[in-house]
Amino acid sequence: MTSKSLPKNKRSKEEVLAELRTLRAEDARWKEGRTFSLVYHVDDEHSALLKEAYGEFISENGLSPLAFPSLRRMESDVISMAAELFHGNEDVAGTMTTGGTESIMMAVKAARQWAREEKGIGRPEMIVPLSVHPAFEKAAHYFDVDIQHAALGADFRVDVREVERLITPRTALIVGSAPPYPQGVLDPISELAALAQARGLLCHVDACLGGFFLPFARKLGRDIPPFDFEVPGVTSLSADLHKYGYAAKGASVVLYRNRALRRHQFFTYGGWPGGLYASPSMTGTRPGGAIAAAWAVMQALGEEGYLENARRVLSATDTLVAGINAIPGLRVLGAPQVGVFAFSSDSLNVYELGDAMEARGWKMDRQQNPPALHCMITPSHERIVEPLLADLRDCASKLAAGEPAPEGSAAMYGMVGAIPDSKQVDGFLLEFLDGVFDRT
Ligand SMILES: *Cc1c(COP(=O)(O)O)cnc(C)c1O
Repeated sequence: MTSKSLPKNKRSKEEVLAELRTLRAEDARWKEGRTFSLVYHVDDEHSALLKEAYGEFISENGLSPLAFPSLRRMESDVISMAAELFHGNEDVAGTMTTGGTESIMMAVKAARQWAREEKGIGRPEMIVPLSVHPAFEKAAHYFDVDIQHAALGADFRVDVREVERLITPRTALIVGSAPPYPQGVLDPISELAALAQARGLLCHVDACLGGFFLPFARKLGRDIPPFDFEVPGVTSLSADLHKYGYAAKGASVVLYRNRALRRHQFFTYGGWPGGLYASPSMTGTRPGGAIAAAWAVMQALGEEGYLENARRVLSATDTLVAGINAIPGLRVLGAPQVGVFAFSSDSLNVYELGDAMEARGWKMDRQQNPPALHCMITPSHERIVEPLLADLRDCASKLAAGEPAPEGSAAMYGMVGAIPDSKQVDGFLLEFLDGVFDRT
């Protein structure tokens, strides 16, 4: 048991660190490749580089670029490398943030300011695909922007006619994902951006997941449609370094077509007795370690390293997708373009399949609308491709033969899926959060 009170006396470093490590016992075993989200792992050598670079700048604070020209240099390099990767010319400007959510919140906040200051729209709206990441709902909630959801087509890409139908005089921003998290299928970015441009609106591409993957997949010969500043009409883009950029947690970029748009993101306050205050993003203090680790990983991998990792992810994903589609009753949804995909079933309860797999040590994320299991593949998943397929085959055939699934979360997912009103589900989720953050 850990101590609930601040220890009265000092404890030795060895003792504290030993206790810290024992706390891991029940954690998701991501190193073994048996989990499929949250950790984007390459290998131990890669993690060692991240730790060393992060540790070098663990104390420095990116809030003050004047005090730490080192961090300013690194951030500027990271933004330049990203801008070039995403076909931005020298006008493209951005900042680093602590993650996809912060990048998205900043893009929405910048769009809101743009709408207010340049279009005179007091309470602007944005139109997002149904598959968009909840960070947009969060941004709407935090910044008083109204959000409209456009339906998806049968291929899981947003229906552009639906988006067009939802445009009102208050619309400021149209969003597409490259790709959205649930099915890994890119939205029709060129069409969305063309629509936005024709109507004088902003267009954000959420490439949090695919940003540091798609350019390399394309170089490897994959058919990746244009999704970045190459597309006229795209005005901002978010891409996470701590996903397929393989950086340490707490690193993402948000980029704008030009500095005038980026300016709407910034916050300044000249009246503080503590001094003149200027902050680029949501957070005040900005952890230097995350910036340093991102810079270091981009230098260390280079294009060569990113291509190699993309090749490994694509090859594992191809084998998994083909293997899953070959299992009677299972099918992969849509045509996924990165190492992220979902699969469903018309004949089996996929939540029960998830429970059966979980009993064998596989933690697969559950999805809804439609019910599906989700995989996010990294280079470290290479070696689990065959064992995963073998267990899926076995579990699916046992369920098909009427063998009951072990007890798990299927009942809960079934129950939640049967609630017609998502407001009621919200109540359930609030209870859940209360429980998780209780002082147990
Ligand atoms: C992960 C993700 C985000 C949010 O990123 P966080 O770093 O978890 O805040 C946004 N959009 C997509 C498509 C994502 O996959």
